[in-house]
Amino acid sequence: MSLKNKVTGLILAGGRGTRMGRVDKGLQPFRGATLVAHVLARLAPQVASVAINANRNLPQYQAVAGESPVLPDYLDGFAGPLAGLQVGLQFCPTGLLLTAPCDSPFFPLDMAERLHAAMEAEGADLAMAVTMEHDPEQPEAAPFRQPHPVFSLVKSSVLPQLETYLETGARRMEGFYKTLHVAEVLFDDSAAFGNINTLEDLHHHERSTAPAPSSRAPDADPAALAVEDAQRLICARVAPVEATEQLSLLAALDRVLAADIISPINVPAYDNSAMDGYALRGQDLPTEGASAKFKTIGVAYAGHPFTQAPHANECVRIMTGAAIPPGCDSVLPQELAANINDDDVTITHNAIRAGANLRRAGEDLQAGGIAIAQGKLLRPADLGLIASLGIGEVTVKRKLKVAFFSTGDELRSLGEKLEDGCVYDSNRYTLFGMLQRLGCEVIDMGVVRDDPQALEAALRQAAASADAIITSGGVSEGAADYTRDIMALLGDVAFWKLAMRPGRPLAFGKVQAGQDSAWLFGLPGNPVAVMVSFYLFARPALLRMMGADSALQTMQARATQAIRKRPGRTEYQRGIVSKSDDGTPQVRLTGAQGSGILSSMTEANCIVVLHHDQANVAAGQTVDVMLFDGLV
Ligand code: AMP
Ligand code: MG
Repeated sequence: MSLKNKVTGLILAGGRGTRMGRVDKGLQPFRGATLVAHVLARLAPQVASVAINANRNLPQYQAVAGESPVLPDYLDGFAGPLAGLQVGLQFCPTGLLLTAPCDSPFFPLDMAERLHAAMEAEGADLAMAVTMEHDPEQPEAAPFRQPHPVFSLVKSSVLPQLETYLETGARRMEGFYKTLHVAEVLFDDSAAFGNINTLEDLHHHERSTAPAPSSRAPDADPAALAVEDAQRLICARVAPVEATEQLSLLAALDRVLAADIISPINVPAYDNSAMDGYALRGQDLPTEGASAKFKTIGVAYAGHPFTQAPHANECVRIMTGAAIPPGCDSVLPQELAANINDDDVTITHNAIRAGANLRRAGEDLQAGGIAIAQGKLLRPADLGLIASLGIGEVTVKRKLKVAFFSTGDELRSLGEKLEDGCVYDSNRYTLFGMLQRLGCEVIDMGVVRDDPQALEAALRQAAASADAIITSGGVSEGAADYTRDIMALLGDVAFWKLAMRPGRPLAFGKVQAGQDSAWLFGLPGNPVAVMVSFYLFARPALLRMMGADSALQTMQARATQAIRKRPGRTEYQRGIVSKSDDGTPQVRLTGAQGSGILSSMTEANCIVVLHHDQANVAAGQTVDVMLFDGLV
């Protein structure tokens, strides 16, 4: 069972909100939603289900919680987080409970995973997040350890201990934790556990104009999710399709093998020659310093074996691939013979060793062995190998159905008149190409206007007919688009802000249409951002759904120029890889890197990956690149 299925999430929203002037903190508006909705969006991907502990405005919390329960305290008088923990543990249907407060919308998306690892390693009852902090009054002083007791993963079996503790009248988390075996887990991003205490804090975050620490990118944001985290979260949710089909070998190119190919025969089926030359008995080869003459007694061709066994100092002229005549175990390549006549050959002692230039039966594949494991995306070499086994039909996964559409009132389709302020829809074509290349069955839904009804209808139709939906546009924050609202309405969709460029916003989740559902990838609108986010997030997830093992290959190349980069986000720049004078790979950028500049993408043959923590690159330094085209 995956960790996620063992954990229930509990949002602590039962406080009095004293520092906010007694407003209900969780319900405060924040970045287009409520604070508690943001916390829910971060918690939900980490747990099997979520409950909210709240003591006021229960209907409003229920609206956010949807099907999940809203649990008021059992104890009276806003008794604090332990009272929330108590009802959370009473409800908890799983062995573990993960808590997060309603006013901290930035906590790490791998919190459950990391707390759990420490809990297991230390055999603890509870694992709690800890950060290292500096005293703002004394910035020079050594950092101190700051525990975050409201961010903890706790075993539901501690409930009796908690109730005993509460019966004494004590209410402090720290006091209760002293009665448990606690594992502390150090997180290095202290901003991630920051909470919003006052209305001022809230407005401050809402505007997000806080000066960024200088070591980070100008728009680095503690709430931004690292690329690898987003990839992991997405891939953990999607699963391979079950259905398979039988195809003839020629129809199976680029499809995903659904059952192992078991070799019915040895390949090669018999010992044969790797060279054109002379087959002979190794024991007859001349000794040190000598040479020997062999009488040629016949010829073996591929497909026409010579079946007579040579005697001492006899040989058989043999062609590549021909079966080795009986009794022979070595082949002299013709170009290594010292002298060749019509009916004899002379060999010097050091021409070959006994056993040379033979391909042994079963050397490539043994009968009964796995020739190709399921999950393989079938490439030309695979078709060849399968054919070499005499197999003409294979079982493959059914094709993945992917619906896609572009959103935006400014978009015009080809053939339409381009009015002022409008652009032609290019993402539709880019996405078509990328999906087609992946071997998906594409459902092209064209352009959908920024209109709630049109979007809802398109998403429902797509969810009813496809396994996955790819949209472009409308997912960035503050966009005057309805996409976000409608997506959130139709399913369980999270809106992420990613620590990357281009491609900051991304929506991912499940869209429901009656009994049917599909995974939604809401990509940004900018043409380059669409491609980069498709390659990084949609591609691996779709491959996983297709049942294939993926991983984009990167290689290294020397940068011919300096590249500006600040740590704190991953950057993808378009580049051209070429061979340098000394034959090693080098890479230069394609000029303007704006996320709308598609021409730089067509010029490029690779993407230069500048990793999250990487800083400026000096000319001559090595960087990672992802090549657009593979060999196969
Ligand atoms: P959005 O994310 O919807 O705010 O779009 C961001 C930018 O990408 C805007 O300049 C859009 O005009 C542009 N854009 C969005 N969708 C497309 C598309 N399908 N083709 C070309 N440009 C687009
Ligand atoms: Mg738009």
